[in-house]
Amino acid sequence: MYRTHTCGELRIGNVGNSVVLSGWVQRIRNLGGMTFIDIRDRYGITQVVVDEHSDKLVHGTVEELGREYVVQIHGTVIERSSKNTKIPTGEVEVHAENIVVLNTSELPPFTIEDDTDGGDELRMKYRYLDLRRNPVKNALVLRHQIAQEVRRYLDGDGFLEVETPFLIKSTPEGARDFVVPSRVHHGEFYALPQSPQTFKQLLMVAGFDRYFQIVKCFRDEDLRADRQPEFTQIDCEMSFVERDDVLNVFEGLTKHLFRKVKGLNFDEPFVRMPYHEAMSKYGSDKPDLRFGMPFVDLSAVVKGKGFGVFDSAEYVGGICATGCASYTRKQLDELTDFVKRPQVGASGLVYARVGDDGVVKSTVDKFYTPEDLQAVAQMMDAKPGDLILILAGGLKKTLSALCELRLEMGSRLGLRSKDVFAPLWVVDFPLLEWDDEAARFFAMHHPFTSPNPEDIALFDSDPGAMRANAYDLVINGVEIGGGSIRIFDRELQQRMFKALGFTSEEAEKQFGFLLNAFKYGAPPHGGIAFGFDRLCSLFGGADSIRDYIAFPKNNAARDVMIDSPSAIRPEQLDELSINIKPEA
Ligand code: ASP
Repeated sequence: MYRTHTCGELRIGNVGNSVVLSGWVQRIRNLGGMTFIDIRDRYGITQVVVDEHSDKLVHGTVEELGREYVVQIHGTVIERSSKNTKIPTGEVEVHAENIVVLNTSELPPFTIEDDTDGGDELRMKYRYLDLRRNPVKNALVLRHQIAQEVRRYLDGDGFLEVETPFLIKSTPEGARDFVVPSRVHHGEFYALPQSPQTFKQLLMVAGFDRYFQIVKCFRDEDLRADRQPEFTQIDCEMSFVERDDVLNVFEGLTKHLFRKVKGLNFDEPFVRMPYHEAMSKYGSDKPDLRFGMPFVDLSAVVKGKGFGVFDSAEYVGGICATGCASYTRKQLDELTDFVKRPQVGASGLVYARVGDDGVVKSTVDKFYTPEDLQAVAQMMDAKPGDLILILAGGLKKTLSALCELRLEMGSRLGLRSKDVFAPLWVVDFPLLEWDDEAARFFAMHHPFTSPNPEDIALFDSDPGAMRANAYDLVINGVEIGGGSIRIFDRELQQRMFKALGFTSEEAEKQFGFLLNAFKYGAPPHGGIAFGFDRLCSLFGGADSIRDYIAFPKNNAARDVMIDSPSAIRPEQLDELSINIKPEA
């Protein structure tokens, strides 16, 4: 028997027990004849005391031990004289009678501590050592808990877990596909799924009216921070549903997860905000509603008064930062620098302070009368002591810059606590998005999303104005899930493909299997997918999804531990009839 208890298990009630522990050597401290060894496993740390002079110590010597050695300790639990209240086993220690080295270890390249000295790249290279550290281990424990609760909830609600294939057909779904060459079928390729979208729809045609799967998805996208080429979705689909049926089920799931995993109760229904409201009030389709500070369109009051920047702007918008009128020159310069960063993209910042006496003083006083400025303050609902921040320029660019500025102010004012959660549904997205470069429409969600029923008539007259029957679940400014009611009518699906610039032949070639299936009684259906990694990191209070993935890729899409991607043997290439072009 390797162990009678784990390293996180022993308590004061175990004093006097003979025990066997197995684990890794965390730390060794020699205090003249007495040596203290901390033994660690997944469950915790237990202190072992070795009295070198004790006639009870029959075997083993502490001299041969090193950090991260795997040891087995036979001993008796005793009460500690100086207790450690910080760990659950801190009231006891194990008086060693026998120490068995099960395996040695090289000195690890970084310390296995909560605050390690190991840099990112090194930790990824030795991920199996990194995973021994509490923060990373706890992240995976949290991920497991969330997955179990998802299964419990959906199973309880009649959902069936069905696996769909990974080797599928390349279809233009949005991102670029990862492809896999076929050896058997010369010159042909599989693609890895960007999501199980079409399969889950086919499951609806098959009559499996409630489906879910916790599933890997693959997207060969350009590298961006906090993106992984493979990631996990909680993928779901339902038949005989309208939008609100789907929202209710998955609002229920979200509330269940908050309750079970975070101990938080959300009694109120989640806010449902139309896309246009989200864009005009917060400049984003994923607004962070942990705080207010909505945008106010000031065009009507500030234009036409001779201030060129505002007069020539397509949009002038402001936010009101409560209690910030006392900001120093330096703080305001910082904010100006912030908005001018290329990632934010504004050309400058105009601000106005509302004094304690209610008088508004701004950087553009010479263009505006005191009454004009009062009108601005009134529109902004600004009170004495508040600071008004104004950006102007092209509509799209300014909304996005103001969004960044609002988030920055939210952070500066401490309004974005990781312990506060503000979920909402964003609904009524546009169905299609025009792309100037490609000179065609793209589906904002995906080509299977149904238009809002009232908007179908616009298909021929004004496709750009159609709203989608689509929805996103947004929490704290992060898109956690997205889905839609699907087109289930073959004709409508064909019209959609046409609007997206596919000829009938192309549509048939790419999506014939789906259009065919729709000939055989497709039920009305809709669904959603949650970004599981992101949900975990949100619940864990982290910014990055990486620590919630056991073996993630780095920001260059590499697995530095197994060294992948890597070249393959010439024979493998031969078998696939593939020649690698020399790099240009
Ligand atoms: N397949 C979609 C996605 O990955 C989600 C959905 O519409 O259910 O975004």
